[in-house]
Order: sequence, then structure tokens, then C-alpha cells
Amino acid sequence: MNPAVTRLLAIARHPLGALPTPLTPAPGLGRAVGIPALWIKHDELIGFGFGGNKVRGLEFLLADALAKNAEVLITGAGAQSNHVRATAACAAAFGMQAVAVYWGQEPAEVQGNLRLTRLVGAQTRFTGHADRGQVDAAIGFEAERWLARGHVPYVIPRGGACALGVLGHVLAAQELLQQCIARGIAPRHVVLAVGSGTTLAGWMLGTALWGVPWTVEGVTVSRPPSEVRARVSSLIAEAAALLGVTKAVVSDEIIVHDGFIGSDYGVPSPAGNAAIVLAARTQGVFLDPTYTGKAFAGVTELARRGHWGTEAPTVFIHTGGEPALFAHRVE
Ligand SMILES: *Cc1c(COP(=O)(O)O)cnc(C)c1O
Repeated sequence: MNPAVTRLLAIARHPLGALPTPLTPAPGLGRAVGIPALWIKHDELIGFGFGGNKVRGLEFLLADALAKNAEVLITGAGAQSNHVRATAACAAAFGMQAVAVYWGQEPAEVQGNLRLTRLVGAQTRFTGHADRGQVDAAIGFEAERWLARGHVPYVIPRGGACALGVLGHVLAAQELLQQCIARGIAPRHVVLAVGSGTTLAGWMLGTALWGVPWTVEGVTVSRPPSEVRARVSSLIAEAAALLGVTKAVVSDEIIVHDGFIGSDYGVPSPAGNAAIVLAARTQGVFLDPTYTGKAFAGVTELARRGHWGTEAPTVFIHTGGEPALFAHRVE
């Protein structure tokens, strides 16, 4: 076996998801947007804590936290964070406290992910500043506070963006490959929503390690492509180092499609909302307003430009996020 794969399989991982997640054809949605062979890989149905891509990274982070006898998981992001909600569910399931640090002010109405995060018992704090970067320092202060009181904190970086988080998606690439072999399909494109870039980094590294011929393409919903590429490149380098390889194993070309963020990250966009309605009405699939709806708006526009081709399958990774549907009006 490839030595990097041997190293990967030796890194502790605590199972959380019900894997593999389903891979299903989406003929109704594909027909509606002009992609004859559209498939959806349903990571929203991953089977833990209301699902989503973050559960894959958490399997490695949880194993690390348990090995360090952590008593409290501290992380952060925005109030509708799927990452924070999944982390909080993880803490609840493994007898730990969760502390969530959010940017901005506490919203007047507690809905969607914030509601679920409180429901599983997380303590929530708001920095009071719109600046997302300030969450990182606040996470650090929280960790010191818990340490000073004699507890063992375990910090997960904002959005779960770290090398251990990347590894979960390296395995996802292998998982999809096995499903495609079993189904006898050979996708040309795998496309997913990009926030921090952790998921894209993992899929790219996994695709390279398993030598799969598809291209992995991101649709950014948060940051300009240049910033995404810089982050993805360093996340790939950090994760590759854990596996004893250099990032040279991965293609230099990081494909990031832009133009679908709308007015801002986390603010529903007209094109994203239209994609949510279309997927719901043609396929019975629920996309979310922050990530998958905007990413699918990108898939749709790229289809219009003939980007995906008509024969080889295109796989859209449904990375989750539906709880945010209950915090925003999209229809
Ligand atoms: C976090 C998230 C993403 C993006 O993942 P990154 O690793 O941050 O790029 C996509 N979809 C959903 C639903 C998410 O919660």
C-alpha cells in the first residue's frame, strides 16, 4: 500500500458518521439544469448530530481530544455554524462540555444551528464584533480560563479548519471512489461548496493519494478565490506532512469558481435561493442558504456555460447545512 495511506489509516479516528454516505443519481435536478448525469453524495445524511461535512473532520479531532483526556471542546464561528453545532453534539455524546465562541452580537431570535447548539448543552459566547478573526483570540482566552480552573480544554480552530480536519475528507475521496467502482461510473468532476477550504483540501489530497482521475472543484461562498487557494494550499501542506508526503503530490491547480457569494458570507442570495427551490421541487433535496444553495447556483451557471460536459457524471457533494433553512426565509 502507498505509505501515506498506511500512515493515514494508523492515525486515530473515532467513528461518528454512518459511512459511506449515500451516493444517488439526481435525474430531475440534472435535467432541470442541463447535466444529464448528475449525482449527489449525501454528506448531509452522515448520521450524527444533524449531519454535514464537519462530522468527517470531527472523527479525527474527537479521537485526538479523547486521547488527551479533554473535558471541554472549545471552538467558534458564526451563530449559524454547522461546525459548531456538530462539535457541540460531539461533546454531548462523549461526556464533554462544549464552548462556542461566535462573532457578532447575540441574535434576538435563537433559531437554526444556534438553537440546536444550545439544545445539546453548549455554552455560547458572542464577541460583540463583526470581525471573524477576533473569534480566534476569544477561543484562546476561553481555553486559558478553563485551564486556570483545572480543566483540560481542547481547542478546535474556527470552522474546524486544521490538518486533522482535512484528513476526514481525504477518506471521503476514497469512499466516493469505492462507490463509483461499485456502481460502474467514472465521474469527471466532483464539485463542492468552499468556506474555510478544509473540505476542498481533503478532497484534493485524497484524490491525489488514490490516483483518481476526476477533478475536484470548489465554489467559494465566503472568500475571494486567491485567499481560498492560499488557505487550501497550506492546509494540503499541513495534512500531507501528517502523512509523510509533500504537497507536491497534489496538483498545483486549485479550481475555485467565484461569483456566487452574493452580498456576503452567510447572507442568502437570490441565485442561491433559486437553487434551493429548484433542488427541492425537482429532486426533493434540501440545500442550505449559506453553502450548498450558493454552490449549486454556481453548478447551474457553469452548466449553462457548458462546463460540465454531457456524458461523464458530475458529482455534487451535499455538505449539509439544512438547519440554517430554519433561520432564514428562502422561498
Ligand atoms: C463548513 C461547510 C462547508 C465548507 O467546508 P469548508 O471545509 O469550511 O470549506 C460546506 N458546506 C457546509 C454545509 C458547511 O457547513
